Amino acid sequence: MLEISELRSRYGRIEVLHGINLNVQSGEIVTVVGANGAGKTTLLRCISGTQPVSAGSVVFRGETITAVPAHRRIKRGITQSPEGRQIFTNLSVEENLRLGAFLFSDERVDKDMQDAFQMFPILREKRNLPAGGLSGGQQQMLAIARALMGRPNCLLLDEPSMGLAPILVQQIFDVVSGLKALNVTVLLVEQNAFGALKIADRGYVMETGQVTMDGPAEMLIADPRIREAYLGI
Ligand code: ATP
Repeated sequence: MLEISELRSRYGRIEVLHGINLNVQSGEIVTVVGANGAGKTTLLRCISGTQPVSAGSVVFRGETITAVPAHRRIKRGITQSPEGRQIFTNLSVEENLRLGAFLFSDERVDKDMQDAFQMFPILREKRNLPAGGLSGGQQQMLAIARALMGRPNCLLLDEPSMGLAPILVQQIFDVVSGLKALNVTVLLVEQNAFGALKIADRGYVMETGQVTMDGPAEMLIADPRIREAYLGI
């Protein structure tokens, strides 16, 4: 579904992605783990089209989209749920969800909203309240629900567990794991390598702008280098 080849990207004169190769097959959950500053967010932004690519290519469902603007990529089925959630705290839960579907008809939005409420009952309960009043975990659920309102084929999730209490972290990983049943393909960027690898089919390890290891998630979890560097085991 998604094929990244020799991807390079820079901020000004400083290159931060040095030739990334990565692919995601339809229906997979693939995770990219790595320390702070490895370039994970930049990689996601190159895929969603919000960060320029200086070399290499992004192919989505057989078409090269490297130069396609971000809003057109959303229409093709790629949605990014950004780091830090970035929900609109003054707007209600429902208004936030509607913003996730701004490209679509009211009828479709109403149906998708019901689906979102079924998946996240707490959001139905709080639908008319300002999103800023939700707990951190609930805000992350809202961010994921909002991203799903665009009916993405491929969802890019940037650190959904960041800043959450341990019990909520597990809840969020359960939610992401459940996206498989909805046929949503997921590329999940996480610093919580253990949590992410536990729910992923495959994983990539990124260090300073390069992929240093990749393979089936269970193989990475069992690898002594990963266990020492990222899992604290
Ligand atoms: P984090 O988990 O902290 O988001 P990351 O792995 O996602 O880390 P990136 O945010 O992609 O890493 O950052 C990769 C490198 O690019 C880092 O060295 C960072 O300092 C640098 N960088 C990120 N954003 C910018 C920017 N807007 N301008 C200049 N340099 C940037």
